[in-house]
Amino acid sequence: MNEENSKRLHCEITGTVQGVGFRPFCHGLAQRFNLSGWILNHGSGVSLEIQGNTIDQFLQALKAELPPLARIEQMEQQTVPTQINERSFIIRKSRQSAITAAIPPDSSVCSECLKELFDPASRFSRYPFLNCTRCGPRYTITHSLPYDRNNTAMSTFELCPECEAEYNDPTNRRFHAQPTACPACGPQLSMPVDEIVQRLRQGQILAVKGLGGFHLLCDACNHEAVETLRKRKNREAKPFAVIAANLSSLKQFVIIDDDDDATQALLESPQRPIVLAPKKTNSGLSSLVAPELNCLGVVLPYTPLHYLIFNSAMGNPSGTDWLQKSGDFALVMTSANPGGEPLVIDNLEAKQRLRSIADVIVDHNRIIVTRCDDSVMKITNKIPRFIRRARSYVPQAIKLPYEIPSTLAVGGHLKNTVCVTRGDEAYLSQHIGDLKNRATFNFFEETIQHLLDTLGVKPEIVAHDSHPDFFSSRFAQRFGSPTLAVQHHHAHLAAVAAEHHITQPSIGLALDGFGMGENNQSWGGELMLIDNEHYQRIGHLTPLKQPGADRAAREPWRMAAAVYERLGRSQEITVRFKQTGVKQLQQMLDKGFNCPETSSAGRLFDAAAGLLNVQSISDYEGQAAMKLESLVTQTEIMENGWQIRNGQLDLLPVLERLINCDPVRGANLFHGTLIAALSDWLKQASIQHNISTLLLAGGCFHNQVLSSALLQDLTRQGLTVRLSEQAPSNDGGLSLGQAWVAGMSLKRKWTKGSA
Ligand SMILES: [Zn+2]
Ligand SMILES: [Zn+2]
Repeated sequence: MNEENSKRLHCEITGTVQGVGFRPFCHGLAQRFNLSGWILNHGSGVSLEIQGNTIDQFLQALKAELPPLARIEQMEQQTVPTQINERSFIIRKSRQSAITAAIPPDSSVCSECLKELFDPASRFSRYPFLNCTRCGPRYTITHSLPYDRNNTAMSTFELCPECEAEYNDPTNRRFHAQPTACPACGPQLSMPVDEIVQRLRQGQILAVKGLGGFHLLCDACNHEAVETLRKRKNREAKPFAVIAANLSSLKQFVIIDDDDDATQALLESPQRPIVLAPKKTNSGLSSLVAPELNCLGVVLPYTPLHYLIFNSAMGNPSGTDWLQKSGDFALVMTSANPGGEPLVIDNLEAKQRLRSIADVIVDHNRIIVTRCDDSVMKITNKIPRFIRRARSYVPQAIKLPYEIPSTLAVGGHLKNTVCVTRGDEAYLSQHIGDLKNRATFNFFEETIQHLLDTLGVKPEIVAHDSHPDFFSSRFAQRFGSPTLAVQHHHAHLAAVAAEHHITQPSIGLALDGFGMGENNQSWGGELMLIDNEHYQRIGHLTPLKQPGADRAAREPWRMAAAVYERLGRSQEITVRFKQTGVKQLQQMLDKGFNCPETSSAGRLFDAAAGLLNVQSISDYEGQAAMKLESLVTQTEIMENGWQIRNGQLDLLPVLERLINCDPVRGANLFHGTLIAALSDWLKQASIQHNISTLLLAGGCFHNQVLSSALLQDLTRQGLTVRLSEQAPSNDGGLSLGQAWVAGMSLKRKWTKGSA
């Protein structure tokens, strides 16, 4: 080392730098550039000191070659006096203060591990549980912090001498890789991979233990197998996802353009979410995989076992060349959550509860500590967006505009998630589900406890939906901290404001199925002025009657009948609809009995679907709207198809037009006119209030046709438009917005109190 030009630099690094191979990476770089010094993990990040005359090259390489899971958020540098007699670079023993550290999310197999997996000479050859600091399970196997082997599901597996040597070798990729394991010392699968594939080929349904829970797998091209799975799962129409070996295999089933970098990058990212893509027709896939929808959820292998399954299906070739070859083996992969209860994670529970669905259960002896479904995403105008945020993204924090008091937000009733804030970070939980059964509610309580414990947070305020009868709202009332009820659509819009750091006044459009408004009204098509913790309703969709109240949400034909009534044509209802109870329904509408009004956009879509005979009765939430969207070929605008009066947007003219339309033409007209109408409405509001920042939120913005066109149109007008990206647009993102509103209210109160 040339000590004359030697400099010494001290760096404080924050971000995702622990449990991701950052220290061995720095160690390797220091050796490459002949630098001395040390590195140290501590409670809030990493401290690094380097000395020598190639520090600039080191820093360049540090940024350019960062391990796949590492992310540097901040790096403070300071020149310090050089130290004589320092000859090497060492990794110092960690100072652990668990409270500000976080558990990293799970990650798919890295390229180095993949090579070992299919290298006959490697001691990890064909071992379904290999991993390293750059990949593998994290969140789903961790009981508590600090993130240390003893606090994970790996604590019961004692490292063999070879694994231990790698674990303690600072130059090794497995240095302090907490979940590291090999065939000699790690978990074991209950069935040989070749047998798994053989059974799948025979058309059997397998329950296979994955990263965050059991999946049900079957051959996606075997119609009979998929049909059997639907029957046994009682899941008549809800779409399934499909997994295949690689992109070129997936391209047989979905359209992914060669220049569609966003979709390809997302599918191949270390997070490996399920991504929605346009479905190909006549691809050989069973029509029951995603019935009557034009989109299909697809995913690439993310555990070593997934890779082994596809490798076996190709005849067990060694090496990694096969990974580029297209194969026709594709599997349905769906969560094993019988009866709408949470994902099954326990071996014994699987034997009891999945026996009636699966022909055979494949498990292993590593326990799943934290249940986590697959994440589901789609791309809108090149922006990846969440439909369900779970595996591989949780528990990564979402940065808030600034610090707020610690908050717990308990979400809504459907697609529940919870959120805990600490400082300027929001920790949104994984997808919990619909809080309609005891098991899901238990999962909800467990998740809250786990988040509060691992983050070391005692909430100053608990936020909940303004619907007092939601189980989540009742839980909040019992919790024992001060509470704040947050209006549903305000929360939706606040979630978008929070993640995009919008703190100035903005105009928000929330479109969804149902949320309780003021005076117990049913809302769902709301135009609001949003100013942080305050909102003002400045407009809404013209309400429609919901004959039979809640039942109308499951039966689109009822909403269609309500349109007839609004048109003064209720005498036609019994002629047009043949459902049982149609006569009583007409009377209900005429007398206004059991017909609460709603401004819901979800019900507007239902009405359109009902009028076009696309769907009379829904099997699952959102089905009518999804089928309607699937029919769109080219949107068409009906002139004078809407009216705006006193802030109210009325789409009655286009609804009337649908009565005599064929489904495709109708879907084109409805979408085109709705988009033009919303755009018109928003532009008027923007001018009137002199605000150019617009927020779009709510489950309806998962409609790709709607969100994509509206975003384009408004942006072209020079407006700033923001949609949710880091949290789902639907109720899965509600808790983030609730937390932001509650945290801000309390912060404001405290500031006033001290003034
Ligand atoms: Zn790896
Ligand atoms: Zn071992």
